[in-house]
Amino acid sequence: MAYVIAEPCIGTKDTACVDACPVDCIHPKKDEPGFADEALIYIDPVECIDCGACVPVCPVSAIFALDDLPEKWADFTARNAAYYKK
Ligand code: SF4
Repeated sequence: MAYVIAEPCIGTKDTACVDACPVDCIHPKKDEPGFADEALIYIDPVECIDCGACVPVCPVSAIFALDDLPEKWADFTARNAAYYKK
């Protein structure tokens, strides 16, 4: 398991992380179907290579390594993964 986008992304969806990710594993992008409907954007836990490049570019500090994810946002791990199981 990889990095996780958590609650601060809701209402922000800045997408700087999308541009920073070297393996293109953060979706939906602004030009992809569903972007407007999703509350936040998500990291694909299979494709993520744990590089950490997305963390410092997020203006609301919404992205965490799994080990650093605050307990109150623990459910976002499943929420990120669920997007890719549709
Ligand atoms: Fe992409 Fe790296 Fe962030 Fe994983 S940790 S989502 S590979 S930028």
